[in-house]
Amino acid sequence: MNLPRLRSDAEYDRAVELARMSGVPLSRCPTCGSNPEKVRVAYADGTAEAEGREYGTYKYMGEVYECDCETQIQLRKHYLLAGIGEQYMRLDWADYRNDAVKRDVELYLGKWDAIRRNGMGIEFGGEALGVGKTFAATYVAKELIKKGVQVLFVPFLEFLSTVIRDDDESRERMERMRRVTVLVVDELRPPRTERQAWFGDRFEELVRHRTNFNLPIITTTNLTEDELRTHYPRVYSLMSAKHIRLDLTGQDARMSWIAAQNLDLVLNDEVRPIT
Ligand SMILES: [Zn+2]
Repeated sequence: MNLPRLRSDAEYDRAVELARMSGVPLSRCPTCGSNPEKVRVAYADGTAEAEGREYGTYKYMGEVYECDCETQIQLRKHYLLAGIGEQYMRLDWADYRNDAVKRDVELYLGKWDAIRRNGMGIEFGGEALGVGKTFAATYVAKELIKKGVQVLFVPFLEFLSTVIRDDDESRERMERMRRVTVLVVDELRPPRTERQAWFGDRFEELVRHRTNFNLPIITTTNLTEDELRTHYPRVYSLMSAKHIRLDLTGQDARMSWIAAQNLDLVLNDEVRPIT
């Protein structure tokens, strides 16, 4: 694993803040709950000091594992900064049930150097809901982060709210969407507003900049390619030249088992590690 370097203290502060907001401080292991500086070192003169970390264990699928707390903390820090939600941090690709998509995704990751040079993204499409489009997109994001790539995951609705707010924070956020090596746009859809053309133009600016500089965009969408062309005529022709469309269809890939498994985990006091 070759996690990207944090670029600034501000970024570290942001990770600390995001962790605090989610209820588990960044210093605490998000999987076994171990705290740093719990190990007491006692000296002969009767004094003692706290040092290091007490490594914990966690239970998953009926087995008890020793926790690699440092890796769990590091992965969480990078995933938080990349905007990857807690649930997706913990989903395991081994559980992904669409073999065709799995194969194409592995091919994409395996050819990453060439893919990166050509600025190719992936579009996970398909009309059916809950077939694991976001699961697949976040898996790609996580694997790229482990290769040291800067990734940002942005729900499309958040893009809309960012462009409409014209303040320093939103301008900084937009700048990050333009410059980050890989941008994941989740649930691309037509904006349900009268200002559809205005939003389309803002989206086009972003996409045009990224495609000009060969910066990959990964999207998920419930829209068909025809619908995308109707709603975003100019921008979609730019995008479709720079991505591989993978259509996720059918019942086999339905992700409803995740909800059932989540309930089992809670009832059994278990936790999925961050992967
Ligand atoms: Zn731990």
